[in-house]
Amino acid sequence: MDGLLGPAEIRELAAGLGVSPTKKLGQNFVHDPNTVRRIVAAAGLGPDDVALEVGPGLGSLTLGLLGVARHVHAVEIDPVLAARLPQTAAERLPGRADRLTVHLQDALKVTTLPDPAPTALVANLPYNVAVPVVLHLLATLPSLRSGLVMVQKEVADRLVAGPGSKIYGVPSVKLAWYGTARAAGKVPPNVFWPVPNVDSGLVAFTRREQPRGGVPREKVFAVVDAAFAQRRKTLRAALAGWAGGPDRAEKALAAAGVDPRARGEQLDVESFIAIAAAAGS
Ligand code: SAM
Repeated sequence: MDGLLGPAEIRELAAGLGVSPTKKLGQNFVHDPNTVRRIVAAAGLGPDDVALEVGPGLGSLTLGLLGVARHVHAVEIDPVLAARLPQTAAERLPGRADRLTVHLQDALKVTTLPDPAPTALVANLPYNVAVPVVLHLLATLPSLRSGLVMVQKEVADRLVAGPGSKIYGVPSVKLAWYGTARAAGKVPPNVFWPVPNVDSGLVAFTRREQPRGGVPREKVFAVVDAAFAQRRKTLRAALAGWAGGPDRAEKALAAAGVDPRARGEQLDVESFIAIAAAAGS
């Protein structure tokens, strides 16, 4: 894999565009080719895979993805960065630049993408919207079978957390609904420009068959949201509003085989599915 961007190239590109990275858009650019190689390797893309990259920025990861994927869709909200990207690809990977489609768009507003349909989400995500972006894209693009995303380490830990831990919450259960997720490593701040004040983490996920247990996603997520909105309460109390009263909540919980005195943070995604199914039956 060649053509990757190092510190000098990143500075030069940014200076040429008059770009000064903004916090608002979570702009921390990777200027370390080894980190790009590591992300691309962890994504495990095959030659038939079509990558969806959110926030390509100056193109560090995009170039790595172009080296292995059949096609890369890059969705970037910043017009200056989006406009420059095809040129960067053409200059640095001339034989592969035609595999790139750049979309000037907010990833949270993506509803469809033109062919070829993306099979893998691979991104160094803007940290302020990382979880909503992952959940939105999984909901919107059923062709996505897997993903490898870099997010703030704390968020990575939350995304892969299991029941019973303090950091287990709505993002953990919702990602578990879509598939299996695992931590795929830690990334130090010094591979970015500008240097963030937090560590980053990689999260890998693989989609499972849906809808799980024959219950629509919205119904399951409504239970999850209600349970964690008051996470210290028992499920009987926390789900009262959702069920139409504590007695009804207790009935649904009993039908699902869940102890009404338990708390949401103790339940795995299967139990949330069972509660949603019980409420609908
Ligand atoms: N992938 C590049 C890299 O690794 O060097 C840049 C990653 S940087 C952490 C995040 C990128 O996401 C920035 O280029 C930023 O402009 C872009 N971005 C921020 N919010 C976005 C959104 N809602 N939709 C699409 N892109 C977004």
